[in-house]
Amino acid sequence: MYWDKDLETMPGEALAAVQLERLQGTLQQAGKSPHYRKVFADRGIEPGKIRHLEDIRQLPFTTKEDLRAQFPYGLLSVDLKEVVRLHSSSGTTGRATVVFHNQKDIENWADLVSRCMYMTGVRQDDVFQNLTGYGLFTGGLGFHYGGERLGALTIPSGTGNTKRQILLMQQFGTTVIHLIPSYAMRLMQVMEELGVDPAVDLRLRIAFLGAEPHSEEVRQRVEGYFGVAAYNSYGLSEMNGPGVAFECPEKRGMHIWEDAFLVEIVDPKTLEPVETGQEGELVLTTLQREAMPIIRYRTSDLARILPGPCPCGRTHSRLARIMGRTDDMLIIKGVNIFPIQVEQTLMEIPEVGQNYLILLEKADGMDSMRIQVEVRSEIFEEDMRYLKGLEQKITRELRNELLITPKVELVQPNTLPRSQGKAVRVEDRRNA
Ligand code: ADP
Ligand code: ZN
Repeated sequence: MYWDKDLETMPGEALAAVQLERLQGTLQQAGKSPHYRKVFADRGIEPGKIRHLEDIRQLPFTTKEDLRAQFPYGLLSVDLKEVVRLHSSSGTTGRATVVFHNQKDIENWADLVSRCMYMTGVRQDDVFQNLTGYGLFTGGLGFHYGGERLGALTIPSGTGNTKRQILLMQQFGTTVIHLIPSYAMRLMQVMEELGVDPAVDLRLRIAFLGAEPHSEEVRQRVEGYFGVAAYNSYGLSEMNGPGVAFECPEKRGMHIWEDAFLVEIVDPKTLEPVETGQEGELVLTTLQREAMPIIRYRTSDLARILPGPCPCGRTHSRLARIMGRTDDMLIIKGVNIFPIQVEQTLMEIPEVGQNYLILLEKADGMDSMRIQVEVRSEIFEEDMRYLKGLEQKITRELRNELLITPKVELVQPNTLPRSQGKAVRVEDRRNA
């Protein structure tokens, strides 16, 4: 179902009742897995006794380490013969984790993703090109099934071969694209090089950007260049993948589908709930999954719930843009810095191109930060004074935002390394 008005606009109390019923079912189901059976037994937890949503706090968190320790089948709650699919995380922060689905899980997931797409205005007559990795990464198949469920013509173009991607867009009149933000920036660069003008040569109208932290400035660049409305898409493989939280046309926060996920935000140190509206670590419980329910999963993502109702009428809470993971924070000269702050600042400067790299180094026992910034190639035709001036301007803007002074280096477009999957924004050479 791609537009479920009753469910999406359900008043808070009714939604909480749906959640409670599904939570109770989930706990029963989870109790069938070796891991949770032991957790419940060790702590004397009787799933049947959970009567209120708040009671979930009596249950322990599940961490990435738990998933790794229980690899591969420790959290499986159904017979293996019922399982039809497995996916895994991208392994951005260490060994990848694996998640299993039965047929019903796959269908519920497709429903969630199609709900997200429909919300932004995608319809059956759209041509949806999915420029993300097919395979263990959830962005490919997750969006693919969502697009098909909605009835859009879905092109599984995958990643890479940027020229062919553009050709497909031209041949089939692609109207909707899904891609990770760092690839969107790359695509822009290639189109520029090839002289493709999206306004004239393409029919794009919607873009979904997900799987990586990205700033409002990146969204604006994507919207401006491709002439699309761009929507932020949040998900993680442990919670299926895409389809967890998604922006509506208001573009003020991502609705997190609370009929499918129970949301908590906790202080990452004390693990106590934060005050409503404060930033903390996002903790999620699956409410629909059968093959592998996960209870109180510590996502390590830093998130905040936006206050108040959304003008679109949907009642499911909204997450503010995710600034990064708890372990993304850099501490340089005693100052806390998130890589996304660097991006925000750089992307506001028109001369700055589409890629950058943060290098952490040690000089004389002190940590220092060097930032390599791709700038538009015409800039290198200017004289040294102009280049120095631009370098100083970028340094000044960064100092205002970061409160430390990084060393800025301007480099030619296409010279910084690009990763196959998610962009690596920070290279730590301090212990090299
Ligand atoms: P990995 O954790 O190995 O990267 P996943 O592919 O499951 O594996 O990625 C999920 C993670 O990607 C999330 O936990 C989050 O850190 C990041 N992420 C996904 N979507 C977004 C988004 N829209 N904004 C910021 N970060 C995101
Ligand atoms: Zn809304």
